Amino acid sequence: MQAHDGLYIDGAWRPAKAAEKIEDIDPATGDLVGTVPAGGEEDVSAAVGAARAALPSWAATPPAERAALLGRLHDVLKDRHQEIAETVTAELGSPLGFSKMVHASVPVAVCGSYAKLAAEYPFEEQIGNSRVFHEPVGVVGAITPWNYPLHQIVAKGAPAFAAGCTMVLKPAEDTPLVAQLFAEAVHEAGFPAGVFNLVTGLGPVAGQALAAHEGVDLVSFTGSTAVGRSIGAAAGGSVKRVALELGGKSANVILPGADLTQAVKKGVANVMANSGQTCSAWTRMLVHSGEYDEAVRIAAEAVGKYLPGDPKEESTRLGPVVNAKQHSRVTGFIAKGVEEGAEVVAGGPEAPEGYEGGCYVRPTVFRDVTPEMTIAQEEIFGPVLSILKYEDVDDAVRIANDSVYGLAGAVWAKDEEEAVAFARRLETGQVDINGGRFNPLAPFGGYKQSGVGRELGPHGLGEYLQTKSLQF
Ligand code: NAD
Repeated sequence: MQAHDGLYIDGAWRPAKAAEKIEDIDPATGDLVGTVPAGGEEDVSAAVGAARAALPSWAATPPAERAALLGRLHDVLKDRHQEIAETVTAELGSPLGFSKMVHASVPVAVCGSYAKLAAEYPFEEQIGNSRVFHEPVGVVGAITPWNYPLHQIVAKGAPAFAAGCTMVLKPAEDTPLVAQLFAEAVHEAGFPAGVFNLVTGLGPVAGQALAAHEGVDLVSFTGSTAVGRSIGAAAGGSVKRVALELGGKSANVILPGADLTQAVKKGVANVMANSGQTCSAWTRMLVHSGEYDEAVRIAAEAVGKYLPGDPKEESTRLGPVVNAKQHSRVTGFIAKGVEEGAEVVAGGPEAPEGYEGGCYVRPTVFRDVTPEMTIAQEEIFGPVLSILKYEDVDDAVRIANDSVYGLAGAVWAKDEEEAVAFARRLETGQVDINGGRFNPLAPFGGYKQSGVGRELGPHGLGEYLQTKSLQF
C-alpha cells in the first residue's frame, strides 16, 4: 500500500504539525517501504480532542449499531487480507505464508468475535435491588508494538469500539503502514469521525505525550516491561486506568509419558514462528532428565527446517528479525549463552550463510541451560530455544515459575487431567494443553511482571468498561 503523509484525525487524513518523519524499512532488504509523519505533542492533543468530542454520541450509540459497524470492519479487513499480509511482510519481514495465516487472519477473527459480543454483552444487569450499568471508560490511548502489528491494534480497538469508547492509537515505529491500513478500514467501514484516530510517531515523543495526556481515561499498552513500568507509574500519578500487556519467558513443560516427538517439534515451531518475536513464545523447553538427550536430538533436527529465505516467498519458513537493533540484541543474547556455558546444538551468533549484513539470525537451540542463566531469564525475542532439564514434577514447577514473567506456557502429558493439574500450579495467564488451539474469546494476559489486565473475549471487553450502580 501507499503510505499516507498525514495523520488520521477526526475522520480525515490531515497534515501533521510536527515536521519530523519516520522511515519504514524492509528488514529483509534494507529498502525504504514508505515514509510517515512522526507526530508530536500538538498532534496528539488534536487527536485526543477529536476522540473526546466524538465520545458522547458514540457512547450513546446503541450496542447493536456499534456491533453492525464492527461487522463491517470485519468484512473490510477480510476483503483486504492479501494487502494486509503483504504490508506486514514488507515492514516486519515475516514470511508471506505466516503473514497470511496469522497476521492478516487473526485480526479478522478477533474483530468478528467483538461484532458478536457487542450485540450480546450484558451492558445492564440487575443485582438484588440495584441496576448496574457497564459504561464506556471514555477516551483510550492505545500504544502498540510491531511484532503482531495488526492483531495488537485490533485486540484494543475492537473491544474499545464495542464498549462505546473512542481511541487514539500510537503504533510502533517499525510497522506504521499496517496501522494506516487499519485507519483506512475503519473509515471504509463507516465509523463516525473521531471514534478512531491515528498518530504515527516515536515512543518517547508521541507515545509519552499520549500516555500522559489529561484527556485520556485509559492507557492500553502492549510492549516491553521497561516501557510498561514507566507508563504504569505515569498513569498512577494521574489516576488513569491502565492495561499492560508486557514481555514473557514462557515454559513448555513436557511431562514423562507425553508424545515426546510431537511436543518437541511443536515446541520448536512455536519458538521459530515470526522469527521468535512472539511475547507468548515457549522459549524455555523443560524436559525430564530421562528423555533429555532424545529431546535435544529431535529439536536439533526439527530446527534444520527453518532455513532463512526471502519473506516475500510464500514457502519461506524463517524471515529476518524486525530491525538492526533487535538483530544485535538477539545475537548478543546468543553469545551470552555460550559465554555462560550453555551448549549450542544448532545455530549460533554468526549470520546465516548468504545473509551476512542483513537482519537474519540463525535459528538456535541451546542445551545444558540452567535456570539462572541469562538466556533462561531474559526475553530474547528472537529464534532461540533453551532446553532445560528437570528431575521430578515439583522440580519442573519450580523451574517453570522461576521467572519475573508469567504470560503463557504449555504442558504436554499423556493424561489431559495430569496436564491440567500441572497447569494449575503455573504462575501464568494462559497455558496450552497438548498443543492447544487459538481461541479468540479466551482471556490473554500476564501474571507477575507480564502485565495488568486481559485482552480478547468478554474479559477484554470488560477492560474498557466502568460500572455504575443505582440502588432502589
Ligand atoms: P517497546 O516497549 O519499545 O515499544 C512498544 C510501543 O511503545 C511502541 O509503540 C513504542 O513506540 C512505544 N514506546 C516506546 N517508548 C515509549 C515511552 N517512553 N512512552 C510511551 N510509549 C513508548 O517494545 P517493542 O520493542 O516495540 O516490542 C517488544 C516487546 O513487547 C517485547 O518485550 C514483547 O514481549 C512485548 N510484547 C508483549 C505482548 C503482550 O501481549 N504481552 C505482545 C507483543 C509484544
